[in-house]
Order: sequence, then structure tokens, then C-alpha cells
Amino acid sequence: MELIVTKKLTRMYKGGVKALDDLSFTIAEGEWVAMMGPSGSGKTTLLNILGCLDKPTLGSVLMEGVDLARFDRNELTRFRKEKVGLIFQQFHLIPYLTALENIMLAQYYHSMADETEAEEALSKVGLTERMSHFPSQLSGGEQQRVCIARALINQPKLILADEPTGNLDESNEEVILKLFRDLHQMGHTIVMVTHNPDIGKLADRRLELHHGKLTEPILVTNLEEQFDEVLESIWVLREEGKLSPARYRKLAGGKSPEILKAMASRRLIRLEGEEIRFRGRGEDRAKDLVRRHRLAEKLFSTILHIGEKQTESSACKFEHILTPEVADSICTFLKHPQQCSHGRPIPPGNCCRRGG
Ligand code: ADP
Ligand code: MG
Repeated sequence: MELIVTKKLTRMYKGGVKALDDLSFTIAEGEWVAMMGPSGSGKTTLLNILGCLDKPTLGSVLMEGVDLARFDRNELTRFRKEKVGLIFQQFHLIPYLTALENIMLAQYYHSMADETEAEEALSKVGLTERMSHFPSQLSGGEQQRVCIARALINQPKLILADEPTGNLDESNEEVILKLFRDLHQMGHTIVMVTHNPDIGKLADRRLELHHGKLTEPILVTNLEEQFDEVLESIWVLREEGKLSPARYRKLAGGKSPEILKAMASRRLIRLEGEEIRFRGRGEDRAKDLVRRHRLAEKLFSTILHIGEKQTESSACKFEHILTPEVADSICTFLKHPQQCSHGRPIPPGNCCRRGG
């Protein structure tokens, strides 16, 4: 069943900015949708409208079949209180209230203050020991857990989260994402804004906004292939000893900064000023790619006698699809060659027993 149906949803701000431009999409009950797209593409605007904090300029939003446009401000507020839980990147906790009091304040706002329930909410997010702490005494992850507890007090059908892990380090991010996975399993519908493709992958589906319009999401496989391309270029540049910042800049110039940022957030590379450096995972992946590419090339040119041009383009495809086992079989079949047809070194694999 559809929980949300938008039709030609448009939001224009004063000054003529079209933050959302003619969006028609549906979100099913219980679905987890990742809302992706660059900064300024309209993600927060969309979340505000779905959260009944703002109204469309044109078009409609149906929630459980009810047209939100039919509501005045008060009715929208009531609807939001009943149906929606909001989680933000900035935690918006009241600094002079404890974790427990922050929850109770939200309950009060829902006219149902109940200390026992507030305690239960905090223990559900693993904060039993932290109830009487003030926000300043809590880590970022703990503060965000208070916010999640706060968002859940009305058992909302729809959970809207705007970059909920945007201000957190990796270990805190893990804890928060685990909570979202639990909420998803419990049947809550989740719309989560994120920049991070890894987090996007946790969702059932990704919607991508660009300049207020929905675009086909970059297919994850496609994105992975773009990562592969960059990793391989870095490997080859390093091999050629042309690791100067200028070469890196040139490489970066050809790739959208978004891809590089995504790769950095996946911990494949590290961006240091204008330089790009491998991280361990990225280097291993680059090595495997280069190995598969050069083995495929060697196979095509020396055994199958395929012309150079075709060899090159086929090798580019094979490097993405060869499994490690097949790569090792080719390597063994070719008697563990150390150089490709162009004289470049083929990184050894598990099947190679070189020097031993
Ligand atoms: P995102 O969350 O994807 O970064 P936003 O929804 O915040 O994007 O913003 C979308 C566009 O609308 C941007 O161009 C932004 O500058 C503009 N915008 C956002 N809020 C307002 C506002 N209150 N008044 C005018 N323009 C706004
Ligand atoms: Mg935003």
C-alpha cells in the first residue's frame, strides 16, 4: 500500500528559486527510501513538506490517501504529531534539560508526558545509563540517539531523517544505522536524506534529486565502475612515478568532485588538499582491478590473437566482471605472467608463487 503519493509537487521560494520542480513519486508503507543528491538540490525542502512543516506551491501530497493541501496550519500540526517523527543532522536538544527531560518535553508537546514511557524510550536506544545527563555531557552519537527516542514517542508511521549521521564519526554512525535498520524491520516507513552511497545502499530504494528534479539514480554498479576507473588511474599514475600534485589535479579535474568525495567517504582514498592518496582498501581494490585488466589483455592478445584496439576495450569490461577464481585460472593458464602485453607489471595474486 502507498503511504505517500506526490503529484507534480513544486515548491518555489521567494525570489524565484524552484527548490522542487514537478515531482511525482510514491513511497510504499514500510519502505526505506534514501533521498540523495548534491547540496541545494531540494532534499530538505522535500522532507519539510513530507513532514508537514511546509506546503507545496503547486501540486499535491497525499498521505494515506489524504490530501495535505486540505489542511490548515493547525490540522497540519496535528497530523504531523500523529504520523511523523523527525530526526535532524543538528540535534536540536534543549541544552539545560537532561536527556530524560528532553524526551518528556516532547511528550508534553504531544500531551502525553509520562516519565516511565520516556525512560523506556531511552532504554530502547541504549541510553539507560545516560538519562540524567545534559546534552553537553553526551557524545554526538548519544545525542542523536536521544533525538531518535524523541522522534519515536508518538509511534510515528513515517520517520523523516535529514542526514542523521552527518555529524557523527564512524562508530557512532554504526550505532545509529543499526537503530534505523531496527525501525525499518519494525515496519516504520523511513525517508532518509544522505550523501553517503554506503548508507544509500542500506535503503530499499534511492531517489535522487538534482535542481529540484528527480533523476535516475546513478546505478550503484555504475557508480562502482566509476570508482574502479579512478582507482585504476591512481594506480597507473603511481606506477609511472607521476604522482605530482599537478597530475592528481588533472585526474581530479576529469572526475566530478562528488565521485571523489564519495570515494573518500567509502574510505577508498584520502583527500589531502589537492592530493589523492590510496587507503588500504582502495589500494587492494586497485591492485585486483589492474591485475584482472592486464591478465585479460594478455589472454586476448597472446592466446586469442585479438587486435589491440578490441583487446583494450574488452579488457576494460572484463576487469569489472572477472571473479577472483577466474582471474586465478587465467593467471595459471598463462603460467603466471609477470608482465602484460605492454610490458607493465601484473600484480601477483594468490595463485602466484613468485620468488618461492
Ligand atoms: P538541500 O537540502 O538538498 O541542500 P534545500 O532544500 O535546502 O536543498 O534547498 C533547495 C534550494 O532552495 C536551494 O537553492 C536553496 O538555496 C533554496 N532555499 C532553501 N530554503 C529557502 C528559503 N527558505 N528561502 C529561499 N530559498 C531557499
Ligand atoms: Mg539539506
